[in-house]
Amino acid sequence: MWEIEIQPVPLERLADLLSPQRADRLEKYAQRARHLLRDRTVWNINATGRGGGVAEMLQTLLAYGRGAQVDTRWLVLDGDSDFFAITKRLHNYLHGSPGDGGELGEKEHEHYTRLLDYNLPMAKRVVRPGDIVLLHDPQTAGMVDGLRELGANVVWRCHVGRDTTTELTDRGWAFLRPHLERADGFIFSRQAYVPDWVPHQRVVIIPPSVDPFSAKNIRLTDAETRAALGQAGLVETAYSQEHLEFTRRDGSTGRLRTHSGLVLGSGPIPGDVRLAVQVSRWDRLKDMVGVLAGFVDNLAIFPDDVHLALVGPETSGVSDDPEGAQVLEECRALWEALPDEARRRVHLVCLPMGDVDENARLVNALQHRATVVVQKSLVEGFGLTVTEAMWKAKPVVASAVGGILDQIDDEVHGLLLEDPTDLDAFAKALARVVRDPVLATGLGEAARVRVQDEFLGDRHLIQYVELFGALLG
Ligand code: UDP
Repeated sequence: MWEIEIQPVPLERLADLLSPQRADRLEKYAQRARHLLRDRTVWNINATGRGGGVAEMLQTLLAYGRGAQVDTRWLVLDGDSDFFAITKRLHNYLHGSPGDGGELGEKEHEHYTRLLDYNLPMAKRVVRPGDIVLLHDPQTAGMVDGLRELGANVVWRCHVGRDTTTELTDRGWAFLRPHLERADGFIFSRQAYVPDWVPHQRVVIIPPSVDPFSAKNIRLTDAETRAALGQAGLVETAYSQEHLEFTRRDGSTGRLRTHSGLVLGSGPIPGDVRLAVQVSRWDRLKDMVGVLAGFVDNLAIFPDDVHLALVGPETSGVSDDPEGAQVLEECRALWEALPDEARRRVHLVCLPMGDVDENARLVNALQHRATVVVQKSLVEGFGLTVTEAMWKAKPVVASAVGGILDQIDDEVHGLLLEDPTDLDAFAKALARVVRDPVLATGLGEAARVRVQDEFLGDRHLIQYVELFGALLG
């Protein structure tokens, strides 16, 4: 297990974006947090420092926690490939998806427990009685009892889930339940995700949030966007060297590097096209393959200048996601088999993960460059990529599943796909947005207001303080 350093970010920065009443409320809660947590540390433990929504959110939220002078820390556990295969299976099952279809029996239980028992002593060395520990997702559930024995207040936060139960979700929960039952608190992103055996008085619902000032979401000019995409070799475009610097999350200045081969199989994306973009991990439930198929099977309904970019992390960069390389390979095989015209208009992009700040800047630039952002997930815990696009006032075409339903009202903040497996309906919705700039602008503007009102860090931090207040009496 290892610790990720977090540099404090002052709350005033966030407050600048808020109404005076909202900023004032945030400051009052910060005072309350300092008082409640004066001799305590708030630990977060998850399975990866990079890639995916949990890592994304921890990076920014914990920085504000430290900025509010609360001792907030982040530990990442060590696992081996068998452990991550088991936890990916759990992740899939909790979403009601078969994934690799593997077992969750005694053997798996034993390996899962052994790995967490191996991680536990390090956590026990640093966590003190009275501290708060937030354990994130199935990978960490098996640490609840060990940390409670130490006298810590242990909350399990679940970022995944499914609105209705199936035989698979039952199997996933049956595996986790014995580890979780004694947790002091539970956080879910949606009420519908809460299994019925969790005592409701120990549950709070906290949807995620985005940070407007992170490298992922900071407002970019068109010139900065061109520079980022041009320098990385993602888009064929002229750009000026003076826009290559950016601010890292620790406040230092970074400089975008040149890369080659990020767009698989072809050169950079032409500079004069309109882009539909989906940014996701290469996870089967994000259905990159379906996005590709829906677009190319309906190519005729799109204007000639509309291209599709499927964007994900380089697959060696996300250690807790064993499925990634396989899904990318499926997309690549499909792309290679396309007729020339379709192949010319679809781009598979693998972003480098070695420098997370640079990665975030590139995601930002691609989302900014997009004419429309897609998130055609088959299931979705929350869908931070949707929030990120909405904050950038982009029209979004997304599946009407999970947390996306909490972000988008259909036809108001974006377009929702009732049935994410209906590829023709997906293509029609996408074509509608690219053909109607008035619709696109209206959806994008409403989306940005929705994020401003509901999905910024102040709401999230305040909900945490309320939870800590309840936990500590
Ligand atoms: N992401 C990224 N680089 C990539 C692909 C994804 O930084 O190459 C980020 C994306 O911008 C978002 C997060 O990973 O912040 C994905 O979160 P989401 O909630 O959408 O899905 P999850 O991966 O947690 O299922």
